[in-house]
Amino acid sequence: MKRQAIVAANWKMNGSFGLVTEMSQGLADLGLSNDVSIVVCPSSPFLAALTDAFEQEKACEHISVGAQNVSEFEQGAYTGEISVSMLQACKVQYVIVGHSERRSLFKETSTQVAHKVKTALDAGLVPILCIGESEAERTAEQTETVLASQLQPVIDEVGIERFSHIVVAYEPVWAIGTGKTASPEIAQQTHEFIRKFLANASEDIAAKTPILYGGSVNAKNCQDLFAQPDIDGGLIGGASLKVEEFKTICSAAK
Ligand code: PEP
Repeated sequence: MKRQAIVAANWKMNGSFGLVTEMSQGLADLGLSNDVSIVVCPSSPFLAALTDAFEQEKACEHISVGAQNVSEFEQGAYTGEISVSMLQACKVQYVIVGHSERRSLFKETSTQVAHKVKTALDAGLVPILCIGESEAERTAEQTETVLASQLQPVIDEVGIERFSHIVVAYEPVWAIGTGKTASPEIAQQTHEFIRKFLANASEDIAAKTPILYGGSVNAKNCQDLFAQPDIDGGLIGGASLKVEEFKTICSAAK
């Protein structure tokens, strides 16, 4: 089945108002049709500016803005956190949830991630749910167990039917920011496992859920990765900070 191709940019804690302008102008010039959904996820201070910039460029109307995180709480004494209603106020449509840096550096658990997915869904935002194994886990042949342990709490929390509004991003931790990309074969094998895991709960939903690959995707390797049958696009970190390279990656996802 043909699924919507998606390319999402994760700027991480990088970027500037200058990059907001450069990216919106660059993507406007790209002139991609709706064949590829493009989502740009800057740091929170740039969310509103990026939304405005895309709104001002007619050719960017179909490009979405995403956040990199959301609080599982509605409001209150949670210094430094950003609520889902604040994201809505910035007209954000997507939110990255459970990125490996949040899991490892900020100790987010899969239960917390599942709550965040629910918070986002309840507000009408599309969660980009990141899952992935470490190098040690892959070497120990625990990849499938780890991925299952990251997916199951979300299925339990929101139900499989709501995966029709979720994007899954498979990001092997050993490939993130390391320049070590999973080979297209390894990535495809793992995406196939993820789809089969979802299919155990619902074949229909599994067939419709976009699964993106993330981990050192660049202009050179994107074509081969995106050609795999279970890879529906990418979540791009470092290469999304370079406008021309990001445009090449977006074009390759058609
Ligand atoms: C990411 O941070 O989600 C990511 C995939 O980073 P990079 O492309 O730099 O590996």
